Amino acid sequence: MARERWNEPVTVVKNVGAKRAEALAKLGIETVGDLALHFPRAYQNRGDVSTVAKVRERILEKRRERLGTEPWSAAEEGANLSSDPVALVLTIASEPSARMVRRGMVLVKVRAFDETGPCELTYFNMTYVKDAMHTGEVFRFFGRFTLSGNRLQGANPIFEAVRAGIVLPEIVPVYPLTAGVSQKVMAGLVSDALRMVSPELAEFLPAAVLCEMELPSYAYMVTNLHHPETVEALAAARRRRVFEELFLLFCAMAASERREKRENVRPFSDTDTAPFLGVLPFSLTGAQSQCVGEIAADLNGPFLMNRMLTGDVGSGKTAVAAAAVYLAVKNGYRAAVMAPTEILAGQHYKDLSSLFEPLGIRCALLTGSTGKRERERIRAALREEKSPKPETEPLPGLAVPSPRGSSVDVVIGTHALLTEDVVIDRLGLALIDEQHRFGVAQRAALMEKCESVHSLVMSATPIPRTLALALYGDLDVSRIDEMPAGRRKTDTFVVDERYRARLNGFIASQVSLGHQVYVVCPSVSGPSVSGPSVKKRETEDSEELSNVTFADTYEGERDLPPLKAAETHAEELRQALPSLRVALLHGRMKTAEKERVMEAFAAGEIDVLVATTVIEVGINVPNATLMIVENAERFGLSQLHQLRGRVGRGGAKSYFVLVSDAGGEAARSRLLAVKSTSDGYRIAEFDLEQRGPGDFIGSGEGASLKQHGQARLTLAAGCRDTGLVESAVRLARQTVDSDPALASPDHEALAQRVRELLRRGASTVN
Ligand code: ADP
Ligand code: MG
Repeated sequence: MARERWNEPVTVVKNVGAKRAEALAKLGIETVGDLALHFPRAYQNRGDVSTVAKVRERILEKRRERLGTEPWSAAEEGANLSSDPVALVLTIASEPSARMVRRGMVLVKVRAFDETGPCELTYFNMTYVKDAMHTGEVFRFFGRFTLSGNRLQGANPIFEAVRAGIVLPEIVPVYPLTAGVSQKVMAGLVSDALRMVSPELAEFLPAAVLCEMELPSYAYMVTNLHHPETVEALAAARRRRVFEELFLLFCAMAASERREKRENVRPFSDTDTAPFLGVLPFSLTGAQSQCVGEIAADLNGPFLMNRMLTGDVGSGKTAVAAAAVYLAVKNGYRAAVMAPTEILAGQHYKDLSSLFEPLGIRCALLTGSTGKRERERIRAALREEKSPKPETEPLPGLAVPSPRGSSVDVVIGTHALLTEDVVIDRLGLALIDEQHRFGVAQRAALMEKCESVHSLVMSATPIPRTLALALYGDLDVSRIDEMPAGRRKTDTFVVDERYRARLNGFIASQVSLGHQVYVVCPSVSGPSVSGPSVKKRETEDSEELSNVTFADTYEGERDLPPLKAAETHAEELRQALPSLRVALLHGRMKTAEKERVMEAFAAGEIDVLVATTVIEVGINVPNATLMIVENAERFGLSQLHQLRGRVGRGGAKSYFVLVSDAGGEAARSRLLAVKSTSDGYRIAEFDLEQRGPGDFIGSGEGASLKQHGQARLTLAAGCRDTGLVESAVRLARQTVDSDPALASPDHEALAQRVRELLRRGASTVN
């Protein structure tokens, strides 16, 4: 079908000028079609109207439940419990009153009622409310309500006038926004765009797939994601959306994957790792040696290696992988090492170059923030012909010397390595670390790029067989199932806010013993407990989110405790422990600054490092003996297990403390699972049962799809339906098996979408 309006610039939409177009571009919206596919991130169910009496009763009930399960909690702890987001239709009782509570803060109070009782509404800094509501008028209010004494209250609820002849929508979308475009404006723009392209919403899933999965059409999905008529219609639309994302991804994988084992045209004839093992500061464990053996056999075998190296955190995957890199270089090839974050890439660079330097192997680091000149140098060096034949005297340990000059044998980086202008001559091995943290499109692009080289994927998380097949093709698995000797078990504790003072004391005592401490927070900044200093936009955003009924992303349980933000928490720690050196590390900092902080921490110049999960992977500071995770309920169990692996790396006894005020049973039992075992595989399996396979498919903080405003592809990360994922894998395989080139007329639209996905994967990388 011709897509006439689809690709027109957004400026053809009413109310979009140059300035607004610029704002929309920040969300990755450039065409009318982009705008029509700018889906809500959440919805509010305003159609389900309750009453003052019912909401009050529900809050009291919640309070009783809380008191019942937690005998120690004092009565006042339940006092500020709020209702779920709910709609009330209320009549205004008297003219709203406005007063200045302090400089720059105006409070508007509105008294209202329904037939079951009164309710008081308060608006902060929204003076226009005073003119919008008048005695006797009726409004629909939507938000969370609380009880003050016996009186129901609402703070900043959304309000809409109820008038004869006007039908208020029941399910209301909440769109991702950008500065300069309000929720209301965005909703209007999207509706207009949708109207313009609605004749062009063409199906691309094969009919057989739609039929077997009982999925609604593409047009139905798009329309109902924006303006769902019922909760059921929305559920059907979302199910299709998750499915189509997965199906496309798996088709892309299947289509670019070789069907049979690829022939190894230039086997690595020299598989002697002894010189490399000689420079290692330790001897390999039995399990590590076995894995090195399996890898060496692949490299010298008749087929290209396609292997996954798994092993629990700290089992020593790096040394095994480095042996593979060593063999590649020794046989006259270059190797590429890819990590999902810049910090991790930097760490690999440091570790590998110190291992390889004595062997004359040259490493280079190439990431999104590598300077322009250095970048040019590395790119030129990588293009430089790498001679497979010895030209000079062999360097110690190397049968084949690396070419002279500025050449590079091993390039280490993030997915920036995938950009098309990076050409690597004689690339023999691709080593990919923690690959499940790469975004989906990037992974597809990665597979294409590594078409004819040996590949080794490292992962600390066990992956279900079907998923591994879909994501990595027909791979072999090596597993390091033994820890290096002399490791002491890290003790794990689960505590809540009441332990705060003792916890601070514990931090101080670890530091006084000469050790260092990590504190991990789930968010960088934002509305911590009651931050009046939070910027306005963020406040609006969080209020909006707190009024959301159901969201697109994984949110875990309802009524989660408020988030500890790294910035505010670092400040609190500085005040509580003024003699300690507290520093902050998070993903929004510039790379150079991050590196500076990491180096200072590694050098022992910082006592307490307050960080977001940027430290999750790869960081190695053996002197750190305590890690505290705030809002532990927000983290995946595997993620917690990975974090735990950051301590217990030196000789001293180490501790891992999970702080959580989540009251629910499920949250507690999840955290206790981390406490009860140090086996990463059991933890991952438990996590998989509870949260579904989304974590394997989506992208973590490290993947940059989000940074690029392209969160669209990460929807499946919230998927908890293993069955749906497995169906997508199976049907994608069937589709590609039956029509490998996707050339049949029934697959024409599909083929185009798959091509788009691969292209985007290659171009969203920085
Ligand atoms: P992971 O599998 O989590 O990537 P690493 O490769 O980072 O683990 O290794 C964790 C730590 O264990 C590193 O400090 C590394 O030097 C050390 N290590 C690895 N193998 C051995 C071994 N065989 N004996 C002693 N220490 C080892
Ligand atoms: Mg590692």
